[in-house]
Amino acid sequence: MVAFDIGPAAQPDGMAPAAIGATDDRSGGIDLRDAVGSPSACADRTTTPRLIPPQDSVTLPILMYHHIKQLPPKASATWRNLTVSPQAFEAQLRYLAEQGYHTIYFSELIAYFNAGASLPEKPIILTFDDGWIDHYTVVYPLLQKYCMVGTFFPPVNWVENGNGKQVISWEMIEEMSRGGMEFGSHTLNHHLLTGQTEKQIMAQLVDSKAALEQHTGKPVVVFAYPGGGHNALAVSLTAKAGYEAAVGIMAGVEQTRDDLFLLHRITVPYSDDLKTFAARIRSKRPPPFLPGSSLWPDPRSELADR
Ligand SMILES: [Zn+2]
Repeated sequence: MVAFDIGPAAQPDGMAPAAIGATDDRSGGIDLRDAVGSPSACADRTTTPRLIPPQDSVTLPILMYHHIKQLPPKASATWRNLTVSPQAFEAQLRYLAEQGYHTIYFSELIAYFNAGASLPEKPIILTFDDGWIDHYTVVYPLLQKYCMVGTFFPPVNWVENGNGKQVISWEMIEEMSRGGMEFGSHTLNHHLLTGQTEKQIMAQLVDSKAALEQHTGKPVVVFAYPGGGHNALAVSLTAKAGYEAAVGIMAGVEQTRDDLFLLHRITVPYSDDLKTFAARIRSKRPPPFLPGSSLWPDPRSELADR
């Protein structure tokens, strides 16, 4: 089995919540006064025509965000790969809205592949990893403002041990879930699944799913491999634990039924202007997550090993 460790560059993703600097300016300086968020204002999401008939593959960018906050000028390349400023993030949402993209849930993608459901034209999924507080203070109100939905992957122990300042609390998760946001599991403690025993992996998968379902009252159908680390055992156990889809950090915008447990994502770096962002979400060959990551093995070759 190949340990899919993304190495030192993974530090911020695996870092304890307390290591992340807090800021009092939770909104990041953006204007949230126009946030609407009422069900009636966003009614067109549910009435959007379903135009893409069921097929075995679909062009569907799944964007991967971590922090939505300002970075100091000297921030490292790693942080710049894991962060988007609130202003740039809002510009990206506005662009997606103007271009006619429709944000969807993973549950809709699963229904598309497994139950013959159709999808709206220009579907896109927005994902937010690690449960950072700005997911509640910045992302959630902005998604409401643009009548969009997102999928959030908070590690359960980080929520449990957090103080609601650097990582979102259960109360915030419950509010966001009631507000139409989707939650997926990112394990209990964000440790890489590679190198763990079957029993340990199952505990991470099952216990985190149960906790999120208890608090949201909704099925948790999607899983995100911490640090993108996975192997054939982790992939098979994810299905066995009751998930119906999973994401890693393999770059790509084409999703297939066969890849439901290894769906592709695109990371959005701090440096993106709108032109670069627009090209990134349309590219058939988007660049890998981090420099050097093109050396990672093709996950399909790992599956073939079993
Ligand atoms: Zn993560």
